[in-house]
Amino acid sequence: MKIQSIRGMNDILPDQSANWQYLEQTLTEVLAAYAYREIRMPILEQSELFKRSIGSVTDIVEKEMYSFEDRNGDQLSLRPEGTAGCVRACIQQGLLHNQTQRLWYQGPMFRHERPQKGRLRQFHQVGVEAFGFSGPDIDAELLILTARLWRQLGIQQGLILQINSLGEAADRARYRLALVAYLGDRQDQLDADSQLRLQTNPMRILDSKNLATQALLEGAPVLAEFIDGASREHFEKLCGLLDAAGVVYEVNPRLVRGLDYYSKTVFEWVTDSLGAQGTVCAGGRYDGLVEQIGGKPCPGVGFALGMERLLLLLDALDAVPDSVARQVDVYVVAVGDVAAQASAIAEQLRSEIVGLRVELHCAGGSFKAQLKKADKSGARVALILGEDECANGNFGVKYLREKRDQETVDRVRLVSNLATIFS
Ligand code: ATP
Ligand code: MG
Repeated sequence: MKIQSIRGMNDILPDQSANWQYLEQTLTEVLAAYAYREIRMPILEQSELFKRSIGSVTDIVEKEMYSFEDRNGDQLSLRPEGTAGCVRACIQQGLLHNQTQRLWYQGPMFRHERPQKGRLRQFHQVGVEAFGFSGPDIDAELLILTARLWRQLGIQQGLILQINSLGEAADRARYRLALVAYLGDRQDQLDADSQLRLQTNPMRILDSKNLATQALLEGAPVLAEFIDGASREHFEKLCGLLDAAGVVYEVNPRLVRGLDYYSKTVFEWVTDSLGAQGTVCAGGRYDGLVEQIGGKPCPGVGFALGMERLLLLLDALDAVPDSVARQVDVYVVAVGDVAAQASAIAEQLRSEIVGLRVELHCAGGSFKAQLKKADKSGARVALILGEDECANGNFGVKYLREKRDQETVDRVRLVSNLATIFS
């Protein structure tokens, strides 16, 4: 029996990694443009961290975490998301002491869910968090940043921004009573999961994917009506800032998010191009979280985007530039006993033309076979070295992607020609 990978945990193969790198690079550039700095946290944390932050009666903590006891008897979990670990790191390292932080991180997250398109057990997020800012201006900045990212990636037409306000804990407590009263009278019409939630975490019912439950919720009390002055003002100011910046959004009064730590602003960027898994980016404000994890009170707001879903969307909208797939510029064909000269010219080209990607043919073979490989590599130019060329200090240059005659040039012309083509 061959050993297989774990279900829902994928290999990312070389043919796919070019798209990953393109996405990562675009993200890195956009985040740098807003002066966000990268933080790297461990993938394992104490299970208690996630229970305390995400909430012990959420789907993630109840059913989805990879938790185990290590050799010391400590209860550990593979991180299901990044915010908790980021907050833990910031408190532990004193990053929140009398200062603000704009941070981002990336990497794998782990949730034991049913694998399907856009839903994996090991998936990847880029997360962005801002600490120490209590006003709506930073909420707006995060959304303006994501809008720029979609424009940069050419997928803005496929995404809709939904926003809502969850108010303060006290608002939600009052709302919770009203919701429980409404749903309590209609318990028999709820799906089994929601019946359970009615006892443990009734707000989560709003997030139910069950159609009958969703229909029942049409008549339920709306959270917005329970939200007090300060949160309402925060939300109205945010809407004003988004309007001023030209970021289009929809207010979705049923948007609640699946984690307990949010307050005030919540948002999701959704698409209808990916079927059921349509949320590619989601987040919100979590002003109580830092204190909940043991730090001094400090406001926070952030989001995470799902890399796999974004890549699916790039694909669905045919948004990846053709150049991304090309990973080789020049393929060096070396026929006969010319290995040393071929290696030397490949080295020289790499040194003199910054960023040039040169694949050196290794392991011999006929001219024809090597040329076939050159073509398959995606290179624009095949550089041809035979024993004759070497003896004369010349190189053959064959253009693989355009109608242009093969040329024979010396070393100096070669470098200047290639520098022009690949500048
Ligand atoms: P969903 O409602 O789709 O389960 P979620 O609310 O659980 O999403 P978050 O915890 O907010 O998701 O994570 C932020 C983003 O990470 C999601 O919008 C999605 O793009 C991505 N994501 C979450 N879970 C998965 C998963 N199992 N596989 C792939 N991507 C995921
Ligand atoms: Mg989920």
